Amino acid sequence: MQLSGKRAVVTGSNSGIGLGIARELARAGAAVVINSFTDSAEDHALAAEIAADTGSDVRYIQADMSKPADCRALIETAGGCDILINNAGIQHVAKIEEFPADKWDAIIAINLSSAFHTTAAALPGMYAAGWGRVINIASAHGLTASPYKAAYIAAKHGVVGLTKTTALEAAGKGITANAICPGYVLTPIVEKQIPDQMKTHGMDRETVIKQVMLARQPSGEFATVEQMGGTAVFLCSDAAAQITGTTISVDGGWTAL
Ligand code: NAD
Repeated sequence: MQLSGKRAVVTGSNSGIGLGIARELARAGAAVVINSFTDSAEDHALAAEIAADTGSDVRYIQADMSKPADCRALIETAGGCDILINNAGIQHVAKIEEFPADKWDAIIAINLSSAFHTTAAALPGMYAAGWGRVINIASAHGLTASPYKAAYIAAKHGVVGLTKTTALEAAGKGITANAICPGYVLTPIVEKQIPDQMKTHGMDRETVIKQVMLARQPSGEFATVEQMGGTAVFLCSDAAAQITGTTISVDGGWTAL
């Protein structure tokens, strides 16, 4: 068990990519905290289900990643962590001139500022341990842009910048910081964009998937949450100890175009 003895916190992980990463980290032997802003019986049952499936210690901690105090409290309540996965994210699709200001603020808070607050709270423990992995889930949209996603693209480019600064400050201390940049992965965040994209482009569902979403992904296939989990486990391995301050694209060739 490659990651036994390591403690991981995965923000925004009761669904989609975060959940996929939490499962793979637990499968690799890490003790894992899963998180979202809700506090339902299903959230705790999900943690119990992953624990039973993997044999690792998995628990759920509620914290709202739009709130700086909650971000820091998540790390404290977890008792610190060796592996921090900043994954929580939301999306909104609209033209800049019609983009609601409250959506802009929420996307910057959840997709970007939360990673700053959790990293700030987690680094002292990593420095003390002399080992740590910070993995930020950015996006192909952290490296390239598309119309109608101003806040998301600004936040994800910001995440890539934060990743580089984290890597430089932590360099030589046994700690790496990297960003995974997924292309399209069919998760609830993508499902929810399909109706907006249909409206904005005047297309039906299948045409939006093929001509708008996967048109940017030369493989013509969605990436999977298991592939994101496998990439995170690799970044936690000794083989990746000198990979820091960079981005790993898992995007079917999107950013090669
Ligand atoms: P998702 O909607 O399935 O998951 C988002 C997670 O964030 C959920 O667990 C949700 O509960 C959580 N979350 C939302 N608001 C929160 C808050 N205020 N506090 C705590 N948790 C909160 O979407 P996903 O596709 O799994 O997205 C996960 C990450 O991957 C996001 O950062 C997203 O931008 C990024 N990403 C996704 C894709 C894709 O195609 N799915 C591509 C590139 C990047």
